[in-house]
Amino acid sequence: MKKFILFTIIFLTTSFLHAQNEKNISAQSFYKKEIDKLSSSAKIQKAFEIIQELEPTSMKELIELTQIPAPPFQEQKRAEYFKKMLEEAGIDSIWIDQAGNVLALRKGKGNGKTVLIDAHLDTVFPLETDVTVKIKGDTLFAPGIGDDTRALSMMLTVLKAMNKASISTESDILFAATVGEEGLGDLRGIKNIFKTGALKINTHIAIDGGDINRIVTNGLGSIRYKITFNGPGGHSWGAFGLANPHHAMGKAIDYFSTAASDYVSSGPKTTFNVGRIGGGTSVNSIPFETWIEVDLRSLSPEKLIGIEKILLDQTSRALNDYNAGVKTGVKLSLNFEKIGERPSGVQREDLPLIQRAAAVIEFFNGKAFAGTGSTNSNTPISLGVPSITIGRGGKGANAHSLNEWWINEKGAEAIKFGLLMLVSEAGLAK
Ligand SMILES: [Zn+2]
Repeated sequence: MKKFILFTIIFLTTSFLHAQNEKNISAQSFYKKEIDKLSSSAKIQKAFEIIQELEPTSMKELIELTQIPAPPFQEQKRAEYFKKMLEEAGIDSIWIDQAGNVLALRKGKGNGKTVLIDAHLDTVFPLETDVTVKIKGDTLFAPGIGDDTRALSMMLTVLKAMNKASISTESDILFAATVGEEGLGDLRGIKNIFKTGALKINTHIAIDGGDINRIVTNGLGSIRYKITFNGPGGHSWGAFGLANPHHAMGKAIDYFSTAASDYVSSGPKTTFNVGRIGGGTSVNSIPFETWIEVDLRSLSPEKLIGIEKILLDQTSRALNDYNAGVKTGVKLSLNFEKIGERPSGVQREDLPLIQRAAAVIEFFNGKAFAGTGSTNSNTPISLGVPSITIGRGGKGANAHSLNEWWINEKGAEAIKFGLLMLVSEAGLAK
């Protein structure tokens, strides 16, 4: 089962989670017919040919984009470059919003609806990371080559093919290259698109997965905290007896993890993780500060609130218990800082967007699997706007690591899949 192992590697290392609740979806015959009819139209056939012809260009652009670093909160350079690429491909209007997203509007014939399609600009790698693409045989090695740079180049080729094949759609299409999808970026790009309200989005498609047979239709919610204990600090011998924040934090982690383990042992999958610990200046100093960063996740919005309450309550309890024993100097103080919040939500599988995705996957002789993930789709799903995350195709692994690689295996097919998916949702105009 080489294939299975490959999927496991890919999906354990990206934010695109399929491990649980993945379910096969078969398209209803209504949507199968719709997709069959659409795909046999002359314009779509023409666009498919163009995608095939553009293969060398798509690969060249993927390499160019990958080699522009785009660390969290530093996506500007890649954004400017990608904006130029979209302009050259041809677009009705294009701008960069206050969050840093590149937004490109392709006007439809005017049914008043807008389909948003996005790929994220940011990677998880710091600025000094070597992002040179190294080619060995058919394999491209570079941090960020798959997640999510391939999706940017895929989106660009979709736009070019639509233009060259003179495809017009009923709905407007908003192509977006978003900032802040990863980690502490906390979905700030997509959140801004939906927050401003100036853009009325009816449906959303994110390209941020691997295999095109797998789609994300439910949003896995998460809440993240940085928790800090502060004390006076002092010499380990000379000031002995002063409150020690590290000692108190040990108690807090114990109280929290014990109560949390019990809470998550039943019901919808819910997880907790103390991922980082810091503070202290030297082995012979009583630290003046200790901090932890905690990640909480759940498929259920209620459970997520429940585990958050346990974290806050147990940390406060530990602090009070610890402070009760402090006889010398000032007591410790506590600060909670929420550093991340991704909303969760579930969607019905008979939504037209999900049905179309299943039908398009079946058109390419695949089998659709719908799962839960933590992607840009979380935001629209939580607001009741239909949204899915689709794959960028090819074959790849080791996302979020320096050893990330991607192979252009049936890559053109994935771009055709993206185009068909988008045009089916936006409606082919006569
Ligand atoms: Zn991603």
